[in-house]
Amino acid sequence: KVNIFWFRRDLRLDDNLGLYKALNGTFPVLPVFIFDSEILDQLPKDDARVTFIFETLQKLREDLQNICGSSIATYHGKPLEVFKQITKDFPVQNVITNHDYEPYALKRDKEIKGFLSDKDIGFYTFKDQVIFEKDEVVKEDGTPYLVYTPYMKKWKERFKEQSLKVYETKDLLKNCIEHSRLPNLSLSDLGFEKSTIKVPDYDLSASMIRNYEKNRNFPAQDETSRLSPHLRFGTLGIRQVVEKAIAEKNETFWNELIWREFFMQILYHFPETQTKAFKKKYDHIVWRNNEDEFEKWKTGTTGFPLVDAGMRQLNKTGWMHNRVRMLVGSFLCKHLLIDWRWGEAYFAEKLLDYEMASNVGNWQWVAGCGVDAAPYFRIFNPTTQIEKFDKEKPYIKKWISEYGTDTYPHEMVNHKIARERALSTYKKALS
Ligand code: FAD
Repeated sequence: KVNIFWFRRDLRLDDNLGLYKALNGTFPVLPVFIFDSEILDQLPKDDARVTFIFETLQKLREDLQNICGSSIATYHGKPLEVFKQITKDFPVQNVITNHDYEPYALKRDKEIKGFLSDKDIGFYTFKDQVIFEKDEVVKEDGTPYLVYTPYMKKWKERFKEQSLKVYETKDLLKNCIEHSRLPNLSLSDLGFEKSTIKVPDYDLSASMIRNYEKNRNFPAQDETSRLSPHLRFGTLGIRQVVEKAIAEKNETFWNELIWREFFMQILYHFPETQTKAFKKKYDHIVWRNNEDEFEKWKTGTTGFPLVDAGMRQLNKTGWMHNRVRMLVGSFLCKHLLIDWRWGEAYFAEKLLDYEMASNVGNWQWVAGCGVDAAPYFRIFNPTTQIEKFDKEKPYIKKWISEYGTDTYPHEMVNHKIARERALSTYKKALS
């Protein structure tokens, strides 16, 4: 008999709770990863995230081979079909994995659990990608918080009540099955090719955390942690990150990590916000949705340099600084009156750190329609934002080579007129 450990968004060997639990079980562990065709079929063939997952898995396979003569069996297909195959090929006792909270994942896991239980195979999942999940930080009456600050306060109160554990697996990995011929797939077997875009390394140094508050708003400095893709794919565990934030006593940095969990519990409790405004009246907004204007936004040719620099950074690197994400989001929804869902979908296609809960939550925040969102009448001014955050224009010049020449486009809208238009359109929808 074997227990399967199913890797998903937790691509690391150490401090991985599900893996730790599997390794402490009675049976040898068969590590498995499934390239889910339902997800992959929707992606461009050179998707950078697929390359990152693929390369990370190859590294983990090598590590396991060196540590204990084991590996990771990789498959491609619909997870249910793959489990039908695995349960034919191996005598499976239990499938062990970590919680995944996205609506698609919840549906998938329910289906797999049903299939396995018909075969008397157990399906166990553990909390690994958050400190607190859906129902652990709630109001006194058990309902979810809709406002960030009280959520954050309660989160910290709860945190004091517990101690942070690290789940070391080093001495347990020998419990993986010894097998040198586990199925493996190349990128081309998956129908993909290697992307030229790389996931940046993260910076969790004491100096980054200590100076976070001072530096975090200046896109040219680029001195935030870049943890987001690593938290997304689990190449680094959240427990270690929080431990560091606490050691450096930086509340601002810590609070950002709590925003991530805030949005995760919102999406869990309100899965319909994936496509619908949390504040229902905002779905009455009559968006202009002009395709040509959307194209200008996407290609970074709006004539507003900070907006354009951000979009070009995103297109080239799969990354955009948070300060600029807020500005380009606001510009799309307010200045161009293009539906936030269009922007959300474009970010989902491009961002290395794309995370449904954070992306939807933040897009609804910029559009004004989400929980605890900025009031709709607060409209970012794309010119004064430069004064504040890119005064000497190092970021703009880095991403717009033709900046300051005749070939750089004129502003596609007049700020004052666009602002008035946004205010009256929003007002009409909300009245
Ligand atoms: P740091 O500033 O170093 O922060 C550390 C960590 O805190 C981040 O890695 C992230 O996990 C968390 N965090 C910080 N800010 C936020 C926030 N506003 N919301 C939720 N978590 C936060 N973040 C994503 O991870 N995935 C997304 O798909 C995503 N889409 C966004 C869309 C828009 C329109 C906006 C305005 C923001 C979005 N963010 C998203 C949030 C934020 O921009 C990124 O988390 C941050 O820029 C990542 O860089 P960093 O890791 O260097 O962050």
